[in-house]
Amino acid sequence: MKEDTVITTAGRDPEANFGIVNPPVYHASTITHPTVAAMRAARERRWEPNVYTYGRHGTPTHTALEEAVAAVEGGDRAVCLGSGLAAINAAILAFVETGDRILMADNVYGPARRFCDSFLGRFGVETVYFDPRIGGGVAELIDERTRIVYVETPGSLTFEMTDVPAVAEAAHAAGAVVIIDNTWGAGVLYKPFEHGVDVSVQAATKYIVGHSDVMMGTVTTREELWPRVRQSAADLGANCGPDDVYLALRGLRTLAVRLRQHQENGLILARWLQQRPEVDRVLHPALPDDPGHALWKRDFTGACGLFGVVLNPAPAKAVEAMLDGMKLFSMGASWGGFESLILPTNPAPIRTATVWDEGPTVRIHAGLEDIDDLIADLERGFERLNVAR
Ligand SMILES: *Cc1c(COP(=O)(O)O)cnc(C)c1O
Repeated sequence: MKEDTVITTAGRDPEANFGIVNPPVYHASTITHPTVAAMRAARERRWEPNVYTYGRHGTPTHTALEEAVAAVEGGDRAVCLGSGLAAINAAILAFVETGDRILMADNVYGPARRFCDSFLGRFGVETVYFDPRIGGGVAELIDERTRIVYVETPGSLTFEMTDVPAVAEAAHAAGAVVIIDNTWGAGVLYKPFEHGVDVSVQAATKYIVGHSDVMMGTVTTREELWPRVRQSAADLGANCGPDDVYLALRGLRTLAVRLRQHQENGLILARWLQQRPEVDRVLHPALPDDPGHALWKRDFTGACGLFGVVLNPAPAKAVEAMLDGMKLFSMGASWGGFESLILPTNPAPIRTATVWDEGPTVRIHAGLEDIDDLIADLERGFERLNVAR
């Protein structure tokens, strides 16, 4: 089946549910069993599809979303957790113990770095950072203690691309697993399991939910790694409630069509910004002159609405004057909802393996508003910037 069909059908079974299109929202903590033997059997098979033992381990509502996400992303099985960060942590914890080493790209989501450095560091797990553009060169950093190579392409602050198949080849040669943060690709624009990835994590909070109202994370993997990954997620206890799962499923059904509009608006804005005298460069791998464009073109089928803009040097107060008066671009963390966002970012202090030495940087999420209104809002923003200079 083609992508749009998978997105609208996966995880649904109306015939099992009175013909109703969407699955019911099952609220559950206690799940009962008729006999001791049935209870035992359920516990033994607890990570198999459609086996339910306790509300923390999910309900048929969870299964509907998990099957849909796995099908869209191209993996075998998925589990949903209460946030993207919980999903990242569960994925990483499935594979490390004291004395192990994680290799992490320098452009990944900041709190994932913090979890590795501060939290795992206390338990004797070492994290070493590498240039996201290293490709197969990562082999030189892998040693016998390396269990995980963790990447995010493009990184959601600086938008550098990683050659994932090259990284995966080096990782697999040394027996390490490759974990990717696939939030930018949303499971639609990028199919991690076709590029050598073993475990794919998404902040479903972003495009899957798509409406800025629910926190959720997903971990998708292949059958071989499923028991470890699923157990790790269960050990964290970071489950999500069925109402939120339902909203994520509702969001997923329109994911492909929303992404097409986010891409279109994002690219129009990116090209418009490239022409502005206030802009040094636009960080967007779908632009032909972006350093990551060749990799994006090879591995992705599209772009979402999130990209970066490096401004020409300007006083901080001028950039603030621009951002403070925006009408349609709100300032706030997260992205992937229907609305446009703009955020001042400062990638430099987060990085340790590479130097980020650029002008003032903002991150834009192109929402679904009319493109002319968005351009007019940015245009007035630049007027404020120039007046305040
Ligand atoms: C937001 C985000 C996360 C974390 O997701 P939460 O649901 O906010 O915990 C992880 N990775 C990326 C790339 C993100 O943008």
